[in-house]
Parts: sequence; structure tokens; C-alpha cells
Amino acid sequence: MRRPAGKRAKPTAARHGAASRTGAAGLRGLAPELLVELYVTMRRIRRAEETIAALYPEIFKCVGCGTCTRSCPMDIDVMAYVSKAIQGDITSLAENSFDCVMCGLCSARCPAEEVQYNIAILGRRLYARHLVPKAQHVAKAVENIEKSLWDKSLKGLKKMSQDELKKVYKALEIEPDIADEFWVPKDKTYVQED
Ligand code: SF4
Ligand code: SF4
Repeated sequence: MRRPAGKRAKPTAARHGAASRTGAAGLRGLAPELLVELYVTMRRIRRAEETIAALYPEIFKCVGCGTCTRSCPMDIDVMAYVSKAIQGDITSLAENSFDCVMCGLCSARCPAEEVQYNIAILGRRLYARHLVPKAQHVAKAVENIEKSLWDKSLKGLKKMSQDELKKVYKALEIEPDIADEFWVPKDKTYVQED
């Protein structure tokens, strides 16, 4: 029998029970701190999805005509990233729109009056804010600044003349193009190691 228009199917006890059991079984073995982390991550993802829908509700008017994709000089599948925005898949939206130069050609020809490049840049900002794992080395560097571990070097630099500063700068060892993640310069004057 067909469902009346506008009415959503209620989950049956069997369906609801099966889904809950599957989810619970998957989570049962996790340590409490991992469960908390998972919960916080899911809240952040949800918030990111809601932000796009709230600021650009017109994304839901996309008719899938593909004009934006055909217009893009950067060969980006614009319709695909708009579709990812609609699905709330922030990671794919950010990755698929990365080459956008914000020329606006996609938007100029869109029959649904979308502003695709703004949706894309919002997606990339939300991705950076909520989804990219925190850079541990930056957190450590901030911690070291707060502990005043750099004060001595900084005081020395502040006492130097402009010419002396230029000399120090030119003498700095430059990180090679291909260096492993543990690379540090030989002179450790301005490097705080763990
Ligand atoms: S041009 Fe507009 S309506 Fe057409 S696919 Fe692109 S975003 Fe959707
Ligand atoms: S604004 Fe970005 S996505 Fe749109 S056509 Fe230009 S480069 Fe392509």
C-alpha cells in the first residue's frame, strides 16, 4: 500500500531494534574515553552539516543540470561537490573543490542561483575547523611558548641590530625539499626539542 504524501514511515520495532543492536555491538568494545571522543566528533560533523544548510538553503534547489561542471575552467566537477554539500559530506566537499579559483562562472550560469564557490569555501573552512585532526607539533610549540622556553632566544634577538638579525636569518639552515617529519636543523639555538 502506498504511503500518503508527506507522511514518513515510522521505524518498525524490528527495523529499529536491528539498527540499535548493530550500533551497540560496534560500540560495546570501545573504551569510555574513545566513546566520548566519538560523540564529540559526531557532534562537530553534525554542526558543520547544519551550518551549510542554514547559510545556503538554496543548495537544495539544485536540479542536477550539470551546467556548473561544464562551465568550470578548472575542470572541477562542481555539480558533484554541490551534491556532497547537500549530503552533508564536508570532507568530500572540501577535497573536490580544492582547485576552485572563485571565478564565479559556475554561479553565473546556474538556473538555481547557487553560489557554488562560496559553498565550497565554507566547506573547506568547516573542514579545517571541525574535521582535520589537531596538529600536535603546533600544540606542543604553543605549550613551549606558554612555558616561556623561548624567552631567552627571543631576548637575544630583540637586542640585535637590523644587520645582525639579517646575518642570523641568512645563516639559518633551510629545511630540504624532501625531509622526513623528524628533521631539525643542526644549530638548535632556535629549536626547542622534546
Ligand atoms: S548549475 Fe546549479 S542547478 Fe545545475 S547542477 Fe550546478 S548547482 Fe545544480
Ligand atoms: S568559481 Fe570555482 S568551481 Fe566555479 S567555475 Fe570558477 S573555478 Fe570552477
